Amino acid sequence: MNIIFGPVNSRRFGKSLGVDLSPGKKQCNFDCLYCELKSAKVVNNQTEIIEVKEIVSQIEPALNEHKDIDVLTLTANGEPTLYPHLNELIDKINQIKGSVKTLILSNGSTIAKPKIQEALAKLDSVKLSLDCASNECFKKLDRADKSVDLNQIKKGMIAFKNRYRGDLIIEILFVKGINDSKKEIEHLNSFLKELKPARVDIGTIDRPPAFDVKPLSYSELYKISLLFDASLNVSIAAKNTKESAKFSYSKEQILETLKRRPLTKDDINSLFDSNSLNNFKQLKTEGKICSKISGNIEFFTAKSD
Ligand code: SF4
Repeated sequence: MNIIFGPVNSRRFGKSLGVDLSPGKKQCNFDCLYCELKSAKVVNNQTEIIEVKEIVSQIEPALNEHKDIDVLTLTANGEPTLYPHLNELIDKINQIKGSVKTLILSNGSTIAKPKIQEALAKLDSVKLSLDCASNECFKKLDRADKSVDLNQIKKGMIAFKNRYRGDLIIEILFVKGINDSKKEIEHLNSFLKELKPARVDIGTIDRPPAFDVKPLSYSELYKISLLFDASLNVSIAAKNTKESAKFSYSKEQILETLKRRPLTKDDINSLFDSNSLNNFKQLKTEGKICSKISGNIEFFTAKSD
């Protein structure tokens, strides 16, 4: 069975080679309204399990073939942390990967489990989803197995963050009319201020989902990004291609915006019209804007007076 896919170029992590820990069928403890995979019974454990040696035997030649890979990404047709030999697999990967970085994309459901924390702590980056911070919203959107508890997930994220040396990234996928209310964003913001992840990626549906749910526009995502605390490195994981939806900012407005929220290069290219881009470049030359890398991405902020 084909476990390796890619390489794909990811703007956030570089050239990535994917490792699918459930290549045969969807095995997930969530049934998200926005899932792109064919609907399947919600499960808490994998029943179709690939042996560690089989996975490693596919990773080794792939790494040899693609010498320019930046990151090996553990993912699944479903939830990768349901893979029962994750700890052993990560140890084996760390022995053979050389300088390649490691990353997992998880729905976050198992992060309260000490064994999962132990395994994930050995990866360079961990990206966990958190679409809702209130139970009502979580039940409606992510439709998890009844054994999954949102409060446990939040406690698990805090405990993991306290022990983890790598980059913890939180991903929020916004769905129109479900988790985009001011109240829900306030819940998310207050939890994330406590968690202090390296980066928060906000995005929306970009491929046809299983259910009839609607995406948000780029400008709606941008307005949401302003509701988060300025200390959180919020990055919009969507592109605005419409020139007419871009903004014209004076130099003062750019500095004001950067004080409220650090912006990535993608944000700047999506938000600024050509006049604003010139103003931005001038402010950089004048030394009024500085940059920092957080969660592998460059964020621009206004230099404090
Ligand atoms: S966690 Fe991922 S794979 Fe599982 S249902 Fe949600 S979107 Fe689909």
